[in-house]
Amino acid sequence: MVFPLVFFIVVCQYIDMKCVFCSSTNTSTTNSRSTRSQTQTWRRKHCKKCKRVFTTFEKPDMKHLAITKDNSASPYHRSQLYMSIAQSFQGNNRDYSLIDMLVDTVEIKLLKQKDTTIASKELARLTLATIKPIDKKAYLHYLAEHS
Ligand SMILES: [Zn+2]
Repeated sequence: MVFPLVFFIVVCQYIDMKCVFCSSTNTSTTNSRSTRSQTQTWRRKHCKKCKRVFTTFEKPDMKHLAITKDNSASPYHRSQLYMSIAQSFQGNNRDYSLIDMLVDTVEIKLLKQKDTTIASKELARLTLATIKPIDKKAYLHYLAEHS
């Protein structure tokens, strides 16, 4: 998988991560692994000063992305996408980890397209294509809201 440059900049910033307990920058990575959806990487850090272990999560930076609609553009926000997907799942039994996974999947598609802008209609189309095989009812609800 090819990530845009911004992703690697974020990763590099985390390499000198401060210890969450004592703020020492003298930490080392003892283990790292991509999460199931591959939009996040966790690293187990060991602080050489206070000897404690903590975990960091790295996410690709989506700040490069703007959503265009008519003649205006607004920055992409994961929370907005999350809310729009969550709203398409009706009832009290929302599976929030599933919604999180759907957002991750849409973000992977957004990173793959490498553009710095996406039309809101195209984002809706990507989201619909992601929801469709997972939940037909949510798909129909999202379609009704976003077309
Ligand atoms: Zn420490």
